Amino acid sequence: SPVICWFRQDLRLADNPALLAATQSGAPVICLYVLDDKTPGKWARGGASRWWLHHSLAALSASLEELGARLVLRRGDAFEIVTGLASELGAQRVFWNRCYEPFARERDTSIKTRLKQAGCEAETFNGALLIEPWNLKTKDGGPYRVYSPYFRALAPHCDDIAPLPAPSSVTDGSQGVHSDALSSWSLLPSSPDWATGFGPVWTPGEDGARARLETFCEDAARDYADTRNLPGTDGTSRLSPHLHFGEISPRQIWHHAVSHVPAGKGRETFLKEIGWREFSYNLLFHFDDLPESNYQAKFNGFPWNFDETVFKNWTRGQTGYPIVDAGMRQLWQTGWMHNRVRMIVASFLTKHLLIDWRRGEEWFWDTLVDADLANNAASWQWVAGSGADAAPYFRIFNPVTQGEKFDEAGHYVREWVPELTNLPEKYIHAPWTAPADVLARAGITLGRDYPKPIVDHARARERALAAFSSLKDAA
Ligand code: FAD
Repeated sequence: SPVICWFRQDLRLADNPALLAATQSGAPVICLYVLDDKTPGKWARGGASRWWLHHSLAALSASLEELGARLVLRRGDAFEIVTGLASELGAQRVFWNRCYEPFARERDTSIKTRLKQAGCEAETFNGALLIEPWNLKTKDGGPYRVYSPYFRALAPHCDDIAPLPAPSSVTDGSQGVHSDALSSWSLLPSSPDWATGFGPVWTPGEDGARARLETFCEDAARDYADTRNLPGTDGTSRLSPHLHFGEISPRQIWHHAVSHVPAGKGRETFLKEIGWREFSYNLLFHFDDLPESNYQAKFNGFPWNFDETVFKNWTRGQTGYPIVDAGMRQLWQTGWMHNRVRMIVASFLTKHLLIDWRRGEEWFWDTLVDADLANNAASWQWVAGSGADAAPYFRIFNPVTQGEKFDEAGHYVREWVPELTNLPEKYIHAPWTAPADVLARAGITLGRDYPKPIVDHARARERALAAFSSLKDAA
């Protein structure tokens, strides 16, 4: 009888322990992917992720075909589909790599139990992390809540990483098994097609991921410590969507970086960022309401002030602060935003506009191609000040000085906010400070061609600090 290899967030052939074990079982393999929009509830994949998923599945399907196997696509409740298929085909074993989202863990536990009752074994593996969250504990036996000691404990476990090879062939067991057509899932946007800017930027799939990693390690990794904060340069790896969908594993990245990038500040800083991803997963695993609830309970009484109009201004990149608007438009047009700018726009939403971080988290969930429950929740809480090892609340980014510091010549702003193209460097991050004749020469009427700031920085800062101290007073 056949075995099932259930692909989830591991859409690759190389360093895929579940796939390798399934092929080594000697039995014919059914390679399965299930699109389950029910189990995740409000965390069902957003629009941009669905675009990515479509292309990633197409790539995986083609690679499997080269090995002789077919990717079976099914849509619906994963519990029903996986347990149903196993019993229908008399499968003795089901292989998968673990997921860490609370809803996925709960579902997988039920599937395991049901399979066992039916005499079928679930064999599960670590395909997504450098170390399992339960294997890294503090001296007291509890989970790490602070990043630096976490990373110090993690790094020694990564020294001997040796990624697994891709199987050289897969004996297909899917004859007679129904598969949906990928196109019938309608994962791509049609009218309007808001993803026209995605294709030129991204190559979803394992080959695209590997090419990205190799180029980054060759060109940019050495200078990463200096360039990673400059949104106008190509200073970061852009591996995040590939990592989220498991087209590449953190083990492959770590191994490749250590063997191809000379030791030094660049490499060290890059590996620390991979460590931040692990830390986020560690947090999500141990604090499973991280996506919905303040990690620091004292934030539960925070006086958020939701205003639909300013929220819309933020989502559309119409706040009047060029660095914020550039980031929000880069996000909309490409499904990705530079990390420095993510921090600036998130700080702006939660502190200048006093809008609950969960609104920002949801917007990112829908618009990011790398939308990732652990990273998104941990990062939003980090910026909002409510998270574990978070930025102190009173550190409120000034969007003008942030722009001047990290996008000095305004290249990034000019790319994403073209109406400001002709504004001299001196005013590019604060157009409202430009004299009337300068604005006129640049062809800009504020309030018509580009918005005036929707909040005054100094006043917004005072308001945010007052909101925060009301919290302290209440505590
Ligand atoms: P690089 O700088 O090349 O870093 C390499 C890898 O390390 C990344 O691909 C990512 O997997 C990991 N990494 C880097 N920075 C972080 C970080 N701060 N936290 C956790 N992991 C990190 N990242 C996501 O993958 N998905 C999200 O949904 C997400 N939401 C975010 C929301 C906010 C408000 C903020 C401030 C950050 C968020 N991040 C998220 C983290 C970070 O911005 C992205 O991982 C990074 O910008 C991706 O670009 P890159 O691959 O070029 O990163």
